[in-house]
Amino acid sequence: MSDTLRPRFWERFPLEKLTRPEWEALCDGCGKCCLNKLEDEETGEVALTRVACRLLDNDTCRCAQYPIRHQFVPECIVLTPATLAKNLYWLPQTCAYRLRHEGRPLYDWHPLVSGDPESVHQAGVSVRGMTLPEFEVAEDDWEDHIIEEPL
Ligand code: SF4
Ligand code: SF4
Repeated sequence: MSDTLRPRFWERFPLEKLTRPEWEALCDGCGKCCLNKLEDEETGEVALTRVACRLLDNDTCRCAQYPIRHQFVPECIVLTPATLAKNLYWLPQTCAYRLRHEGRPLYDWHPLVSGDPESVHQAGVSVRGMTLPEFEVAEDDWEDHIIEEPL
C-alpha cells in the first residue's frame, strides 16, 4: 500500500486511542478556541469575538505559555477525549477534534495533511492578525467585537 493510501494515525485510531503527542498534533493551530465568546443565557447561542485570551499570540495563533498556561489562565479548558463532548457546543466548526469526533476528515489545509504549519493561515481559517488582547478591551465592550468564524 502506498503512503498516500495508508490510513494516517488520526484515521486509523479513534480519538480515545491516540497517544498524547498524537492528540496534541491533531490541533491545527487556528487559534479560534482561544477567542473569548459570549453566550446568550436564554438561547444558549455562542457568539465569537475577536477579543483573545491574554496568552494568545496574534501572529503565530499559538498559546505563548502552553505548558504552564494554567498558572496564568486557570480557567483554560483542557480538551481531552473525556471532555470533548461537553465542549462541542462552543468549539469552532473546523476544529480538528470536532471533525474527528464527528467522523469527518481533516481539511486539506490541516498541517498534518499539508505537511506545512503555515497552510492553516494561508487558507484563511486561522485568527492570525485579527485579534485584540483581552487586557485592551473591557468585558462590557466585547459585544462590539463579535465576528463570524473564519472558515
Ligand atoms: S479550534 Fe481546535 S484545532 Fe483550532 S486551535 Fe483550537 S483546539 Fe486546535
Ligand atoms: S491559556 Fe493559552 S491555550 Fe488557553 S485559551 Fe489562553 S491562549 Fe488559548
